[in-house]
Amino acid sequence: MVGGQARRVNTRGRSPRVLTLRACPRKPQRDVATNYETVVGLEVHAQLLTKSKLFCASSTRFGDSPNRNISPVCVGLPGSLPVLNRGAVEMAVRAGLALNCQIHGRSLFARKNYFYPDLPKGYQISQFEEPFATDGHIDIEVGETTRRIGIIRVHMEEDAGKNLHGIGGDSLVDLNRAGVPLIEIVSAPDLRGSEEAAEYMRALRDVLVFVGVNDGNLEEGSLRCDANVSLRPVGQKELGTRCELKNINSFRFVKRAIDAEVARQAAVLDAGGTIEQETRAFDPDTGRTSTLRSKEEAHDYRYFPEPDLPPLVLSAEFIAEQRQQIPELPGQLRKRYVEALGLPPATAGTLTQHPAIVRFFEATLRDYSDAGKAANWICTEVLRGARIHGVEGQFSVSPAQVAQLLALVDKGEISGKQAKAVFAEIEGTEKMPSAVVEARGMRVLSDEAALRGICRDLMQANPRQVETYRQGKHNVLGFFVGQVMKQTRGSANPKLVNEILSELLSGEES
Ligand code: MN
Repeated sequence: MVGGQARRVNTRGRSPRVLTLRACPRKPQRDVATNYETVVGLEVHAQLLTKSKLFCASSTRFGDSPNRNISPVCVGLPGSLPVLNRGAVEMAVRAGLALNCQIHGRSLFARKNYFYPDLPKGYQISQFEEPFATDGHIDIEVGETTRRIGIIRVHMEEDAGKNLHGIGGDSLVDLNRAGVPLIEIVSAPDLRGSEEAAEYMRALRDVLVFVGVNDGNLEEGSLRCDANVSLRPVGQKELGTRCELKNINSFRFVKRAIDAEVARQAAVLDAGGTIEQETRAFDPDTGRTSTLRSKEEAHDYRYFPEPDLPPLVLSAEFIAEQRQQIPELPGQLRKRYVEALGLPPATAGTLTQHPAIVRFFEATLRDYSDAGKAANWICTEVLRGARIHGVEGQFSVSPAQVAQLLALVDKGEISGKQAKAVFAEIEGTEKMPSAVVEARGMRVLSDEAALRGICRDLMQANPRQVETYRQGKHNVLGFFVGQVMKQTRGSANPKLVNEILSELLSGEES
């Protein structure tokens, strides 16, 4: 038996089959599918894009030298008092609204008490019993189907600092992140496996980036996720005991960590064991999860209302103002691009990957009406030269340049091949395509009078071929078309050349 592990799988009444598991199962979901259903709930921490921290004026800039951006408030010096950042509240509310949550007029900050070196205050200011947003949902696309994933709550809280280990044999603490504003988004246990979890994470990131409250940079820690994973026998309603996987910071790891944990739990259950509720860590190097600590319960944190902050009161007007600032979200955009503009779903998907691409596409359509051609050009030529980072997008050309280029092709002034040459010349410059066409003498190509002149000259130079054509051998037309192309270095409009030559050769004009 490969890997020495075998499990019996009962396949609905048929005689049990023996399945072989590899030592490191690549697709454990399929292997356990007949026995267990995987249940996943995600807690995602998203950093809000404010310039200053949640309760003080220190900068939130990423990458500064350690402990540069700190103040008495975020390091918890005695006597310092927190003041809530209005910008953070605005962003949090916009996120809650975009996730279809109910926003509460009153919410409460609370102290979550625990000791860790990266938390000098000894407590984190969070929201506990009264979060500002609850009961939302987000739709995700899984294969051909749309699944609605519940969002139990969204609350505001501050980030902790960071422990840096192995520096000259010491561990040091960087508090630049301490007090950075976060929202924690808690999903319902509605996800049915690692694929769905990764898709949910992607959909969540897209919504937050489109709303402009998060930059989507998982690698810089601005979006981190904890996954609660449990298994239950297929058909059972009651949830199994869950384990929490901590601090997953990439889409790939979301999938791998959950797969590894599902395989571990299945093996424990198959061997007749029980799952202990605990907090575990995923090690990308070994592809395994391991115990961090036995699971703490909420009461371990001795939550109590934060005495230094009044309840957060949000007026109906404030909430309405935030609602007005929510743009069309990627799901709605994709639907509209497919249904109203007739774009293929894959193209609509590419265009709605990032708000900067959507803005580029929409701006192009203001000057040029063929959505299909614009989308194709943007998805290939334009995206090749684009740099997308965080909420910003940099393009090597402008929408106006692209719109004019496509119009020149439509009018037959340049061919598709020439368009690529023009594009290469305008990239990274302010030059308009029409100016390049002019400067390169490409415009001759649809100039009917000029083409007519070339055709006449050719006919005069080749009287024998003209005679052959007039005797009925119409394939000689190809010879003349070829000659015109040669003289114009391929820039002549072939359709127009054909028309002119047919007319001239059949003697209708001369
Ligand atoms: Mn949290």
